[in-house]
Amino acid sequence: MTVKFWRDDRDDKVFFVELANPPVNAINLAVRRGLHDAMLAIQATTGLERVLLMGSETIFAAGGDAREFDASPIAPHLPDVLAMIEASDIPWIAVINGAALGGGLELALACRYRIASPKAQLGLPEVLLGIVPGAGGTQRLPRLIGFAAALEMITSGKPISAKAGLAAGLLNLVDANPMQVALAVASTHLAAATPVGQLPNPRIDEAALAKSNAGLARRAKGQIAPVKATELVTLTSHTNFTDGIAAERDCFLTLRQSEQAKALRHVFFAERGAKAPAALTNHMPKIIDQAVVVGGGTMGAGIAHALVRAGITTVTIETNDATAKQAAARAESLIEAGVKRGLITAQKADEMRSRYSISTDYTSAANAQIAIEAVVEDIAVKITVFQKLQEVMPANAILASNTSYLDINAIAASLDDPSRLVGLHFFVPAHIMKLLEIIRGDASAPTALASGFRLAKQLGKIPVVAGLCDGFIGNRILARYREAADLLLLHGATSAQIDEAMTGFGYAMGPYEAQDMSGLDIAFANRRRQDASRDPNRTYVHIADKMVEAGRLGRKTGLGWYSYANDGKAATDPLVDALIVAEADHAGITRRHFSNDEIVKRLLLAMINEGANILQEAVAQNASDIDLVSILGYGFPRWRGGLMHYADQLGMVAILAGLKDFSAEDQHIWQPSQLILDAVKTGSDFASFKN
Ligand code: NAD
Repeated sequence: MTVKFWRDDRDDKVFFVELANPPVNAINLAVRRGLHDAMLAIQATTGLERVLLMGSETIFAAGGDAREFDASPIAPHLPDVLAMIEASDIPWIAVINGAALGGGLELALACRYRIASPKAQLGLPEVLLGIVPGAGGTQRLPRLIGFAAALEMITSGKPISAKAGLAAGLLNLVDANPMQVALAVASTHLAAATPVGQLPNPRIDEAALAKSNAGLARRAKGQIAPVKATELVTLTSHTNFTDGIAAERDCFLTLRQSEQAKALRHVFFAERGAKAPAALTNHMPKIIDQAVVVGGGTMGAGIAHALVRAGITTVTIETNDATAKQAAARAESLIEAGVKRGLITAQKADEMRSRYSISTDYTSAANAQIAIEAVVEDIAVKITVFQKLQEVMPANAILASNTSYLDINAIAASLDDPSRLVGLHFFVPAHIMKLLEIIRGDASAPTALASGFRLAKQLGKIPVVAGLCDGFIGNRILARYREAADLLLLHGATSAQIDEAMTGFGYAMGPYEAQDMSGLDIAFANRRRQDASRDPNRTYVHIADKMVEAGRLGRKTGLGWYSYANDGKAATDPLVDALIVAEADHAGITRRHFSNDEIVKRLLLAMINEGANILQEAVAQNASDIDLVSILGYGFPRWRGGLMHYADQLGMVAILAGLKDFSAEDQHIWQPSQLILDAVKTGSDFASFKN
């Protein structure tokens, strides 16, 4: 039974309805039927005064069941069930413990009264799945809490706390024991409460509307759902409730079949599916509560911050007192920034500080279950660090490297027990970015890999396993993206135009803005490392090297692909264009115009082709892992579903045709992946490819 209902045997004026569809009380067909049956039972019972609707102790209801969204809707539909609840002669009270999200909050809005525990979270996150609320959320919420507050909640998808819900008028009461309060509310109060759907139209707030639209144009460019949600909220100011509900339902049913909603559902399920394979679960440590991070620089500071925030006692080891002092300052500034931004409370900050120490002495690592090395990208330095660690740490402690590119096998070979080593590739800033690439060395033991998954879970990160190769999944694809972009520079595009084309596609930043942000010297050093192994037949574009040689390292030097004013504002720089033209002249290339569409096509095909190679070589387990890496690590637009999901929308035949066209210009760079050639023959796609 996913919905339980009964008349209270102590007070026969009270009727209980309990959502019991664990783990999250998703409102699926069975729940809709259960609510409908409960309503019929209530109608058939005389002498009732109130109905108490509750979820579990930890969750009220987390919304519709996204697995149903690909099929045709089956009655009873949620809007109809909610209309019955709202029209009920016996008032329903929503007793909200935990989260009331999406359809869960819509259910609460159809009740006459809403009482929550202080821990409750209230939200309508539908736009994050490319849809709009489909059961009255866009029509009831503005009537209840006003136009501006509802618009913000619905277009951002962000939940609010019980406290904020009470202040906004979404909740009638907040109490540590909401059930007790719900039983005690005077029946005259309940009888006087107006059903939300009958409240007057809210007044439109033009200033809030303009502000919201400007924010969406920036944050959610290209996304349909927030725009449609805005239109629906705006309807409430001048349309009656019945027509508003009908418009909302139409929009909901259309959007849930849209490409964007399908893409966002794909990402939602890919994230949920990103967990340790069954074969590793027996090797998983119960909990990691002590860790050591070696190196307290950019990455080490972010990693240690994430560890202590997750309750893991952490020591950072640095080389000497001076670097230890710098590391301590970095750690403190991250904590302070977290407090300032409201991400951590002052109390949490103190807890974090108490779990955190910095040392120059390796014996401080003696009790840690895992060490994460984040020192400079130099294999000799890393090997020395691991050798020191293996001397002091227990034999079963896991050793992990945050290397971006280096060969995990070569590092492992230097250890007494190579099976202890795994790569844990965090992304900058490591305390914020959700992705964790777990790099599987040839010798990595199941316990080492499983510890990576355990750590990801404790840190709230999404784990993706990658096999060994230069750059693993993400940086290997990034290298092809940059190569294709640099070729475009040589042949006629400008860096600003390429950035504009890629932000037009949906990236928050184009490739050149992104390089200026992270610093051109890192990629430069990496290219020097690759010099010896680079295929001499492959075209090498020197422009980025020339930039570094000219001291243009990006934002940190005030000059990069753009020049930066003191306030950080970027401007195009004729010197960069001149440098590009000089390189093209030097290579004897006649530059030509590229449209933004051409630019996007080239950069995407370069990445898709490398993604296919990565699958073919079993560096990635499946296409959705590459999707997660592209979105969570490299800013690929989430609403396009990730690199390989997008590729499947283009279709294998079109991808191959594009690659063949370009390979007429350069057969090495545009050599189609064998996987694509095979897939065209067999008619298969990336989604169905599994290693
Ligand atoms: P960084 O230069 O900011 O920090 C390195 C730190 O390590 C410094 O504080 C230095 O004092 C310390 N250190 C050097 N040798 C040491 C030793 N023998 N023992 C203890 N500490 C030592 O570098 P970073 O950007 O934090 O990069 C660290 C690692 O993370 C590199 O392998 C890099 O490739 C990788 N990485 C970097 C990024 C990035 O974007 N910065 C992203 C992912 C991975």
